[in-house]
Amino acid sequence: MSFERRPLIAGNWKMNGLIGFVDNLACFLVKKLNLENPTHFDLLVCPPSTLLHPIGSLAENSNLLLGGQNCHVAKNGAHTGEISAEMLKELGCSHVILGHSERRTNFYETNELVKAKAESALVENLVAIICVGETEEEHKRGVTSDIVKRQILDSIPDRGNATNIVIAYEPVWAIGTGLTPTTQEVQEVHALIRKTLGDKISIEEADQTRLLYGGSVKPSNAVELMDLADVDGALVGGASLTGVDFWAIAESCPK
Ligand code: PEP
Repeated sequence: MSFERRPLIAGNWKMNGLIGFVDNLACFLVKKLNLENPTHFDLLVCPPSTLLHPIGSLAENSNLLLGGQNCHVAKNGAHTGEISAEMLKELGCSHVILGHSERRTNFYETNELVKAKAESALVENLVAIICVGETEEEHKRGVTSDIVKRQILDSIPDRGNATNIVIAYEPVWAIGTGLTPTTQEVQEVHALIRKTLGDKISIEEADQTRLLYGGSVKPSNAVELMDLADVDGALVGGASLTGVDFWAIAESCPK
């Protein structure tokens, strides 16, 4: 892994966490970062929108990064229930997760919509974490490469580069199931993503872009996953809700 690609460990809390999570989970992470000042990974939490403000205030003078889980294409307007990239920015976010499979499936988000959302995130100087990954059925049919390639080509904004986008490869069948692809499969897909990105943006930018793996990452499998040549961090769901587990995953990044 090149020096510049410092691993990013991102926690996707999904629709979990009441105000008590600020004092428990977020506080724990801020204290750990202040105490240990790690330089071998960056730590990001993406809580529900209701917790962005208190966690943003808590994390203001720390190295804990804050992100949203989604944003609307528009800056503002008549979009009941939505949140804009500008709003995320104001609350202290540096990142936003886009195109998570739960949004692609439950909210019918297409590659084109994900790309438009990513473009609006870039306007606000947010880093867009763009999720891709095949379903179980696609995996069984052996079409993972085609699916992931198409998602990359169609979801990445044209002005995407190593500093404003991060790609998360999340096989849909591995999310929340305890199942993971073999490390060889993960490395192969990540190498394909980097090559596809190289064709789309540039080889130099692709070489510096962080590629996260997501799907049932836990302390017991993190070391072997974070050790892979083209894996530059993790997008963590369930295990990001427990401070010690999330921290242990981050600590698994190579020094
Ligand atoms: C996710 O939803 O992004 C995810 C990776 O979940 P989990 O870690 O629980 O599989």
